[in-house]
Parts: sequence; C-alpha cells; structure tokens
Amino acid sequence: MSSKRPTDLRHTLAFRLTLWYAAIFTLSSILAFFFFYFLVTTVMEEQTDRELLNQVGKFSTLLRTEGLEAVKSVAVAESRAGGVKKTFFRLLYRDGRVFSSTNMSYWQALGVNLNAIEEILKGTPHFYETISIPDRREKVRVLYSVIGRGMVLQIGQAMELQSQFIEAFKRIFIITMSILLLASAAIGWFMARRALSGVEAVTSTARRISKDDLETRVPVNRRGDEIAQLATTFNQMLDRIEKLVTGMKEMSDNIAHDLRSPITRIRGIAEVTMTTGTSLEDYESMAASIIEECDRLLDMINTMLVISEVEAGVETTSVEDLDLCRLVEDACELLQPIAEDKNVILRTDISGSCPYRGDIRKLQRMIANLIDNAIKYTATGGSVTAAVTCAGGSATIRISDTGIGIPSDDLPHIFERFYRGDRSRSERGIGLGLSLARAVARSHGGDITVTSRPGEGSTFIVTLR
Ligand code: ADP
Repeated sequence: MSSKRPTDLRHTLAFRLTLWYAAIFTLSSILAFFFFYFLVTTVMEEQTDRELLNQVGKFSTLLRTEGLEAVKSVAVAESRAGGVKKTFFRLLYRDGRVFSSTNMSYWQALGVNLNAIEEILKGTPHFYETISIPDRREKVRVLYSVIGRGMVLQIGQAMELQSQFIEAFKRIFIITMSILLLASAAIGWFMARRALSGVEAVTSTARRISKDDLETRVPVNRRGDEIAQLATTFNQMLDRIEKLVTGMKEMSDNIAHDLRSPITRIRGIAEVTMTTGTSLEDYESMAASIIEECDRLLDMINTMLVISEVEAGVETTSVEDLDLCRLVEDACELLQPIAEDKNVILRTDISGSCPYRGDIRKLQRMIANLIDNAIKYTATGGSVTAAVTCAGGSATIRISDTGIGIPSDDLPHIFERFYRGDRSRSERGIGLGLSLARAVARSHGGDITVTSRPGEGSTFIVTLR
C-alpha cells in the first residue's frame, strides 16, 4: 500500500464532492429559475388575454347598440390611441375575407387563421394564438371571436412587456448562474474540505504510526459526528495495538530473561559433570537434573502458550456444561497430599452444586494454580479454604489462606507475567500461575481480585459470569 498523497486533485474525494455539490446546486437553481420564468410569463399572458377579451366584450356591445360603422371607427380610434404598432383590429367575414381593418402596415406578415374561424363558428367561444412575426422582436397575441351578425373580430396585441421581461431575464439568468456556479463550487469545496479534515487527521496519524510512533492519537472533535466516531474507533484500535505490541515486547524480554537462567543452569550442570564427573552415577545425576530443568522449561513454554491463546481469544472447542463445586472439590482432593506434606489444613466450604458453562481444562488449571499458591505460601500449621457461591447467573470462587500475605508494593504486579514476590523466590514456581488464572477468568467474562495482609493471609476471589 502506498503512503503517498494523491497528487491529482481530480482523484480526491473533496473534488468529487465539490463537483456533486456544484452540479446539484446549479441544477436546483436552473429549475427554480425556469419555474419562476414559467410563472411570470403565464401571469403576463393571462393579463393580455383578459385585456383582449374586454375589447371583444366592448365591440360586441357596440355592434349591437350602434352598428358596424361605429365598431369600425372606434377600432381605428383605439388602435391609434394604443399605437398602431402595438394593437390592430380586423373585422372578418365567416369565410375569412377581411371586411375592414385598422392600419395594418406593421402587421402585413400576419394573415388570417381559417382554422381559428372554423373553431369559433363550431361553438368555441374564443380562439387565442401566439404568433412570431419575422423581423419583430416581440411576439403577438391574437384573439378571434364572433361578435354578432356573422362577423368575426380578430384582435392582435404585441407582447412587448413579455419580450422585455424575457430579455432582462436572460441577462439576469446568465449573470446570476455564473455567480451561483462559482459560489457553489467554492462553498462545496470549503464544506468538503471541512468535512474531510477529520479523515485527513486519521490518515496522517496512520502515516506517522507506520513510522514507529505508536503513542500518537487522532484528535477527536466534540461534535460527536461520524468523523468523531471514526477517530474514537481508530484511537481505540491504536490503544489495543499499543497494548499488544507492548505486551509482546515485555513477553519477549521476559522469555529471554527467564529462559536464560534454566539454560545456564543446564549448561552449568553439564559442564561441571564433564570436568569433574568420574563415575556413572555422576552422569546419571546430570541426566536427571537436566530432565528436571527441561520439564520446568517445557512447563513454562506451555503455560505461556496457553496464556497467549486465552488472551488472544482463540475460539475454544472444549466449552461444556460443568459444576464449579465439583471442579473445586476435585482440585482440593488432588492437592490434599501436598497440603498434608506441608502440614497445612486444606478444607472446602461448598454446598450443593454450581452449574456453569466453560472450558473445563482451563478452569481446572486456574483453580489448581490458586489453591497450589495458597498452600505454597502458607507456613506449616496454617490453613487454606476453598469456597464456591453461586448466585443470579454468576459464580464466585474464593480461595483464602492464613499464609505469608502479599506486601502492598507487590499487589499491583502479582498478575503480571513472570512476576515473583521477593519472599517467594525460595518457593518453586515460574511466576506464570496468576497470569494464567487471570487470563482464564477474563476469557470467561470474569476477573480475579485479591485482598491480602502481610503476615496474616490472602484471599483470591474469582468471579465468573
Ligand atoms: P509463582 O510461580 O511465583 O507462584 P504466581 O504467578 O502464581 O507465580 O504468583 C505471583 C506472585 O504472587 C508470587 O510470586 C507470590 O509472591 C504472590 N502470591 C501468589 N499467591 C499468593 C498467596 N496465596 N499468598 C502470598 N503470595 C502469593
């Protein structure tokens, strides 16, 4: 995977977001403009139509009351008053021939629509049409209507206002759209950069981490948005990676340190026997010592493997229904000879059963480690008690002893791998028993706590859910 920045701007997400934003914004603006344009032109057209219709009403009444001549002279007067370039009136026969008209010098290209006459003679009250005339900027709205005695009135009115409006609209549209396009691109770019700045922070942190800086964290904004969630999740992942890497480092340091002693011992035994050994017994004793040391080594390696396996959450296949009371009783029975050898009283405080579902082998090791420790760190004449209580879906195993206790300085460290208390060095052990016990408890959704008073004893409490 390359850690290089994308050099081509067109391939960035910010660029694509900006394009989308600008495109959607521009499209919406165009739609809004056209809607407005349609609305205004429709209103203007309706206004013109109303004016034309008023004229028709006026001429129908005039024809009825004062006759054709009056219609003709009023039409001429109206056309002059309104401007001969703006309005015209034509009286037509039913077959479309012109009976009389106002000054048509500006309207020569405008003929008579026979279809329109046919339509109104069939019964359609009025017939409107909008016509473009060559060499004239504005269009003309024309109305045909029957005004009595078989006479058809054709009125035309130049749509001057509309054409002025369209011209102005076009100008405003082009200028506004250019500004809007630039503004939307700028706003889009700003918003995309702002929204993605959190992602850039994650990327640059990831880049720094790949250069061996595991302590860096992504700043989390206070808005709690998706970017904040991404940053929080990323930081949580980093916490876990850092913990794992530190754990692995500690573990490899410990392994190197703790393997060195038995191997040095094995080498020493062999060397001494080689230089001073004379009899077969000497060599037999060397072999026995080496086997013992190797067993310790194997035990240590196996325990470390189990701890790693449990901590890594490797899916265990041996989960089954079991009885924790039975498990603790069996462990006590197994360790009873060791307690007796040391003259330590090992007793149980268990009644009934405690059904639980878990990995029986690992739970057995956990319980055995805790009871074994309790016997180990209790002087002759002392006692160890193992108790189990089962309540509301969770179980508690309590191992208490009247032993040497744990100094408060040691308490925070006793669950660490290879940690051994100073006063425990004389006892057998490799410092992995409690690490394994805690890993097993946690892998079963529980934990271990300890209370202890130096010189009086300790109590280890395992809770399992
Ligand atoms: P070890 O092999 O030394 O017993 P553990 O991991 O089992 O290793 O225990 C770590 C340390 O915790 C021991 O070295 C000892 O100092 C202390 N410890 C554990 N259990 C007890 C106990 N029941 N009483 C006193 N100290 C204990």
